[in-house]
Parts: sequence; C-alpha cells; structure tokens
Amino acid sequence: MSNIPEMFGSLVFNREVMKERLPEEVYKSLKHTIQRGDDLDITVANIVAEAMKNWAIEKGATHYTHWFQPMTGITAEKHDSFVSRDKNGGIIMDFSGKELIKGEPDASSFPSGGLRATFEARGYTAWDPTSYAFIKDGSLCIPSVFCSYGGEALDKKTPLLRSMEAVNEQAMRILALFGTEARHVEPNVGPEQEYFLIDKKVFEQREDLVVCGRTLFGAKPPKGQELEDHYFGAIKPRISAFMKELDEELWKLGVFSKTKHNEAAPCQHELAPIFSSANTATDHNQLTMETMKKVADRHGFVCILQEKPFEGVNGSGKHDNWSLSTDKGANLLEPGKHPHENAQFLLFLCAVIKAVDEHQDLLRISVATAGNDHRLGANEAPPAIVSMFLGDELTAILDAIDEGVPYYRHEKTQMEIGVHVLPSFPKDTTDRNRTSPFAFTGNKFEFRMPGSAMSVAEPNVVINTAVADVLMQFADELEAATDFGSALNSLIRRTIKQHKRIIFNGDGYSNEWKLEAAKRGLLNLPTTADALPHLTSEKNVALFTRHKVYTEKELQSRHDILLESYCKIISIEALTMCDMAGKDIIPAVGSYILKLAETVNAVKSAGAPVPCHTSKTLKRLCELSDEMTASLTRLRANAEHAQKNLGSKNCGVFCRDELLPLMAELRRAADEAETLTERSFWPFPTYGDMLYYI
Ligand code: ADP
Ligand code: MG
Repeated sequence: MSNIPEMFGSLVFNREVMKERLPEEVYKSLKHTIQRGDDLDITVANIVAEAMKNWAIEKGATHYTHWFQPMTGITAEKHDSFVSRDKNGGIIMDFSGKELIKGEPDASSFPSGGLRATFEARGYTAWDPTSYAFIKDGSLCIPSVFCSYGGEALDKKTPLLRSMEAVNEQAMRILALFGTEARHVEPNVGPEQEYFLIDKKVFEQREDLVVCGRTLFGAKPPKGQELEDHYFGAIKPRISAFMKELDEELWKLGVFSKTKHNEAAPCQHELAPIFSSANTATDHNQLTMETMKKVADRHGFVCILQEKPFEGVNGSGKHDNWSLSTDKGANLLEPGKHPHENAQFLLFLCAVIKAVDEHQDLLRISVATAGNDHRLGANEAPPAIVSMFLGDELTAILDAIDEGVPYYRHEKTQMEIGVHVLPSFPKDTTDRNRTSPFAFTGNKFEFRMPGSAMSVAEPNVVINTAVADVLMQFADELEAATDFGSALNSLIRRTIKQHKRIIFNGDGYSNEWKLEAAKRGLLNLPTTADALPHLTSEKNVALFTRHKVYTEKELQSRHDILLESYCKIISIEALTMCDMAGKDIIPAVGSYILKLAETVNAVKSAGAPVPCHTSKTLKRLCELSDEMTASLTRLRANAEHAQKNLGSKNCGVFCRDELLPLMAELRRAADEAETLTERSFWPFPTYGDMLYYI
C-alpha cells in the first residue's frame, strides 16, 4: 500500500487543490459561496471550471458529469467529454463556467411524483459547491442538486440543504441568547454502513437475489448466527482483501473510512467513516455504497445492501449518528464543564427530545421502505415504535429537574439549570442499550432505524427540520422573556414534563414495550403502508413549509413516489416468487416426487415393504406441491392486480394485506418442501450454500 496521506483525497478537487490552482481572489470568492452561500458570478465560475478541467485531465479524466441524487435513492450521472471543436475544425478540451454551474439532463424517466408533465420533462441540475468535485472512472463528477424548471426539488439533496439552513438559522438564534462567537451551525452525520458479501457464482444462480436483492425462498440452515461466532470475529483473507481495496478506493475519494468489522450474521460486515457535515456525509455514503458494489465484483463477490436479504439472520441497517456543531468546533450536544454550557446543552437536548416526540411519524416515514419493513420490529433491529434512550444517569437528572427534587450522585445536589455542573457521562454508560431506535451516546444521537440501502438524506432532513422547528419555538419564547434565567428554567422543566413519555431505557424488542408504548400514546406504524399517509398531514405540511424545506406540492409528490415504489417492489417480489415457484421449485419437487413414486413401485413389485420414510415424504411433497400451485395462482393474480393499480391510493394497503401474506404462505410451503427434497434435485443454492461458502 502506498502512503495513505498522499493517497487520501487524491481524486478530489478539495480546498488544498483550489487554493493551489485558483487565483487568490477567485479562491476567496468561491470560499464565500461555499461558506456563506454568496452567489457565484460567471467570470469566477469560468476560472474555476478551467482549473477543474486542467486538474481532472492531468488525473486522466476525459469526461465530466453532474452527479445528483434523484428519488430513485441511488445516484445519477450523464457524462459529456471535454472534447470540443475549435474554429479550424480541430479538437480542444473545453469546459465552461456555464457547464459547471448548470446541466440539463433529459430526465423524464426519473420519478417526479407528478411534479413534471412529460411536455416539460427536462429538469436541471445545479452545482452544489459545498460538496467537493471528484474523479470517478475517468469522469469529473460535480455534486449537484436536481430541480424542475419551476424550481421544485426532484432529488434528495435539495431538501437536505434546505433543512441544514433551517437548523442553522434557528440554532444561531439560541446561541445568540447565550452569547456566542459562532457564525454558523451545522449538523454532523456519521453513517455506519452494514452489508453482506455473497459469492458471485452462488448469487447468480438465484433469481430472487438477482432481481430483488433478497431471498424470497430458503429453509433455515442448520446453523444461523446462534453461536455468535461472527460478530467482531477475525476477518477471513478473501474478505480482508476486499476491505483493503475498498478502503483505498474510498480514501482516494476523500472518504474518511475508519472502522471495519464482521457483523452479527454470517457474511455480514460493517464500515463506519469519521463523521462530517450532513451534506458531505450523504454524498460520501452514496459513494461508499457504489464503491462497495464495484470492489466486490472485482473480488468475485456481490455486495448486498438490501435490508433483509436472508430470513432468520440479522438484516442490515445504517446507524445515523447525528449532532450539531458550530464553525468554532463546539459540539452542541456535548455536556459542558461549566454551568453555563450545561444550561445550553440541556436546552439543545430538550429540543431533540421534543422534536422526536412531536415527529415520531416523520422519523418512521423517513426510514419506510418495503425492504426496511422486514427489518424493523424483527428481533434484531429497533422496533417500528420511535422512542429515545438517554441512559440512566441523564434520565435521572431530567427526572430530578422535572420533579424539582435533589439529584443524588456522590452527594445530594439540587440540580439548578445554569448553576450546577452536570456529571460527566462516560460513553460506556450511555451506549449499552442497542434496542433503542434513537439513543443518546455521550455527545451525539444515534438513529438506528435507517435501512442499509437507503440514502441518509431523508432521515437527516427530518431530524434537522424537526429540531429547527423546536429551536424556533424556544427562541421565540426566550427572546421575548425579561428574565432569561427563569424563562430558561421553566422552559426546560416544561419540555421535560410534556415530552418525557418518549424516553424509554428498557428493552425495545420486548412485547411489554409494545403495550407500554401504546399506553403512553406513542405511534406504532409497523409497515410503510401504515406510515406513509401521515406524511402529508396538516402538522407535517405546516412544519416543512414553515421552514421552506418542502412545499406542499413537493411533499405530496414524495408521498406518491414512496407509495408507488413500495408497491412496485412488493409486486415485483411477488411475481419473482411466482416465476421461481412455477419454473423451478414445483418442477423440481415434481421430479423428486416421480423418483420417490418409482422407488415405491419398484420396492412393491419386489415384494418388499415400502419404507415408511419414503411413503410419508412422497405424500407430504404431493400435498405441498398442491399448496404451492394454489398459492402461486392466487399470488400471480393479485400481483398483476397490484401492478395495474400502482398509482392508486389503496395500493399500499393491498400489498400489505393481500400480497405479503400470500408470499409468506407460498414461501412456507416451498421451504418445507426444500427440507424434504433430495439435495441434488433442489434447483438453486440453499441458505447453507450461500452463507457458508468460505
Ligand atoms: P459505535 O460504538 O456505535 O460504533 P462510534 O464511536 O464508532 O460508535 O461512532 C460511530 C459513528 O458515529 C462514526 O461514524 C463516528 O464518526 C460517528 N460520530 C462520532 N461522533 C459524532 C458526532 N459528534 N456527530 C456525528 N457523528 C459522530
Ligand atoms: Mg454505533
């Protein structure tokens, strides 16, 4: 391996490169655009474009592309070469400021949720200078937002940037009340990425994996993850070679890849980067997922990012670590060493508590996909009920503040906000509960519901906006107060009293919690079909329009896109099952039935008693084959019905209530048949073949 500091960011047009290659005035002007959002004038853009082009060509690039994040959840790019014709018909390598700033992809095939009629199908992409350009596969990639001609967001980045601005604005109002030198507040995000690596040869033999990214059939293997021998286990050489190359590729792209380890399920692993601005973290997470897939392919693997690829072992999530920090480097969720800092910490903590309690629905929606539904609420991932874990110590402090009683630690102290220093919370004592969806882990929150395949944009749009809204209410109240200290005290007390129902430090996987949560009036939205209708409620439209994160039209379009995608995924899965059952499983079982029947006849004609096992298996397989045929017929009819009604309002409920149960029914019969059928007859690799190949 070459020198890491030298390799790091070598494919990124970052601050150092800009400083080195741009005239001082241009660099300053660009810096102001990046830091303060100042408009970029075209003469500056022309100089930046020229410098970018020359740098990219030196690095071997031939093309450029605006790189954006449409509602498909993955990234999109359309490459143009730098090649241009000069006046004499010769070739020059050209890239203008105009091309840097704006692109016009023919984008009619991206989901728009009705925001664009086909006659005005063109959207435009606009350079987002707050995320650095980089080189990927010989193309200069320019991180961009994607909007309709009317300026409506058609992507995941635009609302994210808007929500970052909202939380900056409101957090700065609060900081001003405490007296601050900071000029800017930014949400920080560290997304931990889980994934599976499966041998490519095995993967390719399974239609469900190829088409849907998850297995739709498969009996439980003799060994799952019960021995707990994979988590943090020694990394096998073939995996290790993959991880090394992945790290190198990511470092070159300026991604601070930091931690790698084996996860709980066989073949499951994790990568965590060092946290960064929510914007960069979102871009880098997309690059990480893409690079994982590419590098896996070179190593004869397929990287599976789907949330629940295998029944019976853990699914994959993406923990979204979130905090707020100032441009002076202060983390606003870090309990301070002075009473004054602690009052500020408690206020921000209360803002997050109130935000999560008031917007449980939005947090649930921000992680709602067909894939993630299989994971949430299973005994391995947070439940679909949103609650917060603060740890015993912090909870006890909040209780004491709420009740106005002394807090006991080493000595009895009446906790007065802004007077007393909070005890320090070592990370170990706060990070024990892995079952909580939204856990305070010392100086940040860890939102554990996001699924492994999704962009982290949406969860962070919701957290940023919800927190911005509460900070706005707090700032309104505190700015109007005559006595800041007592207003602050009563605001914190009141917030704890009103919102402590969201705090739960116990076992989030238990059944008792479901009952207790219902008693507390917390929302339980087990599926995407249950969650999505809440997106466009009056409360949510008001929230997002108030902070200019989504217009009502944009919100409605997101709802429609999410609902349609949920129904498409489930109906495609259903039809894939029909295909596999009809063309592979039922015929295979039929062949084995024939073999058993021939055996029975042969044994009988030889005058010997037919072995009990043979006749029992034969009988059961005949029954299962009939059951599969019946389920398959009903499932196919229903899946086709769902596909015809994709845009309809009740399509989600139909998929939830009709398709998913039928899919489960078909699978149950097929999985039982698998356990009874001779190995050589089974038409594709089993769970054992897939999960224990190394
Ligand atoms: P865990 O024990 O959950 O793996 P880590 O300390 O390794 O916790 O952190 C996990 C992720 O949280 C990493 O991506 C890390 O960079 C990120 N992280 C740490 N501090 C912060 C913070 N203040 N804000 C946002 N993310 C953070
Ligand atoms: Mg973690």
